[in-house]
Amino acid sequence: MSVTGAQSNGPFRIAIVGGGTAGWMAANLMQAAWRDRDVAITVVEAPDIGIIGVGEGSTPQLKAFFDGLGIDESAWMPACNATYKNGISFHRWSDAEGPASYFHPFPATIDAHTAPAFYFNSHYRRCGYDLEAHPDHFFLSAHLARNRLAPIGSENFPFQMAYGYHFDAYLVGAFLRKNAASDGVRHLEAEVSGVEVSATGDIERLRLKGGGDIEADFFVDATGFRSLLLQGALKAPFTSFADNLFADSAVVMPTPTDPTGLNAQTKATALSAGWAWDIPLTNRTGNGYVYSSQYLSADDAEEELRAHLGLLGSDVAARRLKMKVGQVAEHWRGNCLAVGLSQGFIEPLEATALHLVQSTVETFIDAFDGGGFTAARRSDFNKAVSRRFEGVRDYIVLHYQATKRRDTEYWRDNAANRKRSDRVERLVNCWATGGDLKREVAETGASDFYPLTSWICLLGGYGHYPAGDALRPPPPDIGGFDLSEIFEFVRRCGLNFPDHRRFIDQRA
Ligand SMILES: Cc1cc2nc3c(=O)[nH]c(=O)nc-3n(C[C@H](O)[C@H](O)[C@H](O)COP(=O)(O)OP(=O)(O)OC[C@H]3O[C@@H](n4cnc5c(N)ncnc54)[C@H](O)[C@@H]3O)c2cc1C
Repeated sequence: MSVTGAQSNGPFRIAIVGGGTAGWMAANLMQAAWRDRDVAITVVEAPDIGIIGVGEGSTPQLKAFFDGLGIDESAWMPACNATYKNGISFHRWSDAEGPASYFHPFPATIDAHTAPAFYFNSHYRRCGYDLEAHPDHFFLSAHLARNRLAPIGSENFPFQMAYGYHFDAYLVGAFLRKNAASDGVRHLEAEVSGVEVSATGDIERLRLKGGGDIEADFFVDATGFRSLLLQGALKAPFTSFADNLFADSAVVMPTPTDPTGLNAQTKATALSAGWAWDIPLTNRTGNGYVYSSQYLSADDAEEELRAHLGLLGSDVAARRLKMKVGQVAEHWRGNCLAVGLSQGFIEPLEATALHLVQSTVETFIDAFDGGGFTAARRSDFNKAVSRRFEGVRDYIVLHYQATKRRDTEYWRDNAANRKRSDRVERLVNCWATGGDLKREVAETGASDFYPLTSWICLLGGYGHYPAGDALRPPPPDIGGFDLSEIFEFVRRCGLNFPDHRRFIDQRA
């Protein structure tokens, strides 16, 4: 292999510690990138420790992941009880009149036909004119989600939709493990009990419980929240995001699938001290309540989730989890890269964790190929990954600070919290003063992480417009769009998409 820094004369040896989704995604991506070079990848995982077993919703990036590996949806989706995700709908996040819920679509090329009307109307509504600006009316993805349609258009439909997936975390891990093994990745079931670090700050070897050790030229820490290598052995500092993302706990509980049809969206419903997800798989619905332990006890959170699901008094088992929200100061330190929960986590509201795993590994492959172990490469890489974490964090933080709920101390504290980046501050001010949000989103770099549509959906979706009685009719000179044409266009496009449940069943 041509990467510099190999400390052995044989193949360049990479040891990945951790067999959760992050570890197996890294193994598959690295093996695919370096298959034709002299590289030997080993994944070590401890079955007794197990995986976190959540993380069942994705962004559209996961499609690129499987496409890049040459794995067709018809191969992996049935094996992982997977379904399609048109986007996320947010319920009860706002007490404002009108927007009890809204849908956040993934950006798609067909939006070019309808988004200009959305931008126009939301801008003038911010300026006090009575124009329809609820995001749900303007996007085909929202129509597909509302009508439980799969985002796979008929053959003659000329646009491809952007979509993510829902899937079983354990089955995805098993699928990726099998795929990696068939591609030449070595798999070892063992618990790492010690990490030896050289005087120069590189990892030399891993000691295994029960005897034996593993030497490698490069190590990937995919040990989940434990972060045994990067935060543990190499002592990489961790920057917490707790001052503006309060959630630190979750309780998780499955329910049977909805017999009336298969949702094609994630639902995020605000509860008293956080929010609950509803993720439809082919064989069950995944549910969980992400909350802050400063505001709610674990027992009360479980009780509230049971009540939300209509399961009060039932003996369905619940799982309780702790979350560490933030990121490491350096994602790549010495000869170790952290991926997944070991590098950091931004709570799961926009299901971005696997997206960040994928982009971290892909950026690493590019950086490593381009310059190997140079300090400059590593520094550029760390800056790029940290910036991405911060960009995603900004959007999630705005969900909480833009909320209009005031019914509990938790929501009041979130709404009053002004700890946020300059970027978010600028966007909020621009919105409130009727400024050019498109320009502001571009100038602040916010569009590197979420497009203009997403920022408008969020602020508009939570009802940050002048109150209904303060709105005035738009004067004729501001022109505008014929909304009946737009809505009819969306409806007609929707005719090209199949019922989600039927489509999934036919393909299984
Ligand atoms: C409540 C919650 C909801 C989430 N929802 C989403 C979502 O919707 N979408 C999304 O993209 N992400 C989500 N995530 C994040 C997602 O779960 C993780 O990013 C993903 O599962 C990857 O986890 P991981 O592989 O880093 O860690 P884990 O799954 O914890 O895997 C760690 C691995 O390390 C191994 N290990 C640990 N210590 C040792 C040792 N000493 N020796 C050997 N092996 C060891 C374990 O055996 C295991 O194989 C969510 C997370 C939480 C907490």
